[in-house]
Amino acid sequence: MTLSFAKKVECDFRGYRRSAVGDPYDDNMLDVGIGSLGRFAMHLVMFDIDGTLTETMKVDEECFVRSFMDVLGFANIDTDWSHYPRTTDSGIFDDVFTSRIGRSPTAQDVSQFRQHFIQLLTEASSQSPFAPFAGADRLLSRLAQDGSHQVSLATGGWRDSARLKMASAGMCFDDHPAASADDALDRESIMRISMQRAAERYGRLGSAVYVGDGVWDARACHSVGIPFIGIGAGSRATRLSAEGAVCVFPDFSDADLFLRSVYEITNAA
Ligand SMILES: [Mg+2]
Repeated sequence: MTLSFAKKVECDFRGYRRSAVGDPYDDNMLDVGIGSLGRFAMHLVMFDIDGTLTETMKVDEECFVRSFMDVLGFANIDTDWSHYPRTTDSGIFDDVFTSRIGRSPTAQDVSQFRQHFIQLLTEASSQSPFAPFAGADRLLSRLAQDGSHQVSLATGGWRDSARLKMASAGMCFDDHPAASADDALDRESIMRISMQRAAERYGRLGSAVYVGDGVWDARACHSVGIPFIGIGAGSRATRLSAEGAVCVFPDFSDADLFLRSVYEITNAA
């Protein structure tokens, strides 16, 4: 089934609509802290941060690459992040460090790098505050007030950098259940932990949808078995659709349209 809400947005829910739609006791659910449905099961909208809620992809990349040079003397870092098997701060750091040094990083190696990286981000944000994606802060507030949907965060960034980016862009990381690169090296695990923490705070989850900007987000959603909403425009939007996004939006400026598709997807999931 394909629903078209507007010329600029197409949603394809094939593969997510199940035969038992509307059955509150259907227990054919995700096995990540969701379990069988209660009558008042909550729907979860889980967000990536970089490139989704905050416009921080460029500054993040610059600080990350510079940290490799400053802390370890590594040049020529491959910045096509889709090339890495685990596209998270911790996963990429682990891969680069291991391939160049010949051993896994220690906790101290990780801590030293992370501290420098966050210092660079802090300096960058003090020179010029980070921008939110259009409508992101209002959308999070609307979802938080919604009786049937809740928000969680699942970021491939380290927690302190995510907290800094959201605060600089006028949002609060700690308002929501969250998982980050501090919790796991791979995105699938980060998503599962975020869902578990959301279930602990809000009770049983009926369904979940993930909102992100990367092809790695789409691939992780496919592995975890949850629908993916892409954030992007132009060729990036086309690529996200090709990777399986059920919808792609340029940003959150049309909150009504975005929420309508979230409701359709979570009811279908
Ligand atoms: Mg992202």
